[in-house]
Amino acid sequence: MKIFRTVEQMRAACRASARPLGLVPTMGALHEGHISLVRAARAQCDAVAVSIFVNPAQFGPKEDFSKYPRDFERDRELLQREGVALLFAPSAEEMYPAGATTYVTVEGLSGRLCGKSRPGHFRGVTTVVSKLLKIVQPDAAFFGQKDAAQCAIIRRMVRDLNLPVEIVVCSIAREPDGLAMSSRNAYLDAQQRKQALVLHRALLNVQELFQRGERHASTLIAAGLQTLAEPAVRLDYLEIVDPDTLEAVENISEKALVAVAAFVGSTRLIDNVVLGVSD
Ligand code: AMP
Repeated sequence: MKIFRTVEQMRAACRASARPLGLVPTMGALHEGHISLVRAARAQCDAVAVSIFVNPAQFGPKEDFSKYPRDFERDRELLQREGVALLFAPSAEEMYPAGATTYVTVEGLSGRLCGKSRPGHFRGVTTVVSKLLKIVQPDAAFFGQKDAAQCAIIRRMVRDLNLPVEIVVCSIAREPDGLAMSSRNAYLDAQQRKQALVLHRALLNVQELFQRGERHASTLIAAGLQTLAEPAVRLDYLEIVDPDTLEAVENISEKALVAVAAFVGSTRLIDNVVLGVSD
């Protein structure tokens, strides 16, 4: 596995790479969720590039950018073992040279779900992902359904800007008890780790009610909210939306995304399930 710190070196290595080339963008502190993306990329592509970049542009001023978990050596070993060919780990200065003022924004969608409580977050995501796509020029890029809004926004960006890349979305990797894997789970102490399960439980309740025939979003949300009403959990949102537009749906007739975000202590967690009438 070759490691690159500069845009120029990474670009040259990607140009010379075997094809198809798959890209897996990450912020590091890798877990099985990230590894499942790498494996999907390996299964579909002849070479895999992974980026590790804790992107300052997607963190708000009061968010956890400086304490976000970082363990480059461990990540490097994991990726080496997974047969990754190219690892891109630039500094913030390399990705955003002094005076950089150009951003990519998907209007509308970027203000929904997490975009409501994290203004600027999705602008940071789409800016860095479009830069990574320009640098690597992959045939396919792999993202996790865990960040469902991010997937919708990136799909829209790729479509709107005619970017020649296939976006592949991989299912959510979960701990055995159902908690969605996340680098931020490392912030949770033992008690919070148990309390965090309420997110998944709420989604399962909504799904079960849906499977029993309930189609009104307000009724489904009310059931989920009841489960989430725990003193240790501070809800950000529980919404049922169209998976492509992220707009609220009232009566579910097609696939619908149930997305939740909540704080357990000071840790912000997200999770989701997709309801489909054929389920
Ligand atoms: P992050 O390092 O958190 O920015 O995540 C990098 C990529 O891994 C994103 O596409 C995430 O959606 C994906 N990812 C994170 N957690 C999971 C998970 N539990 N299951 C599947 N994909 C995930």
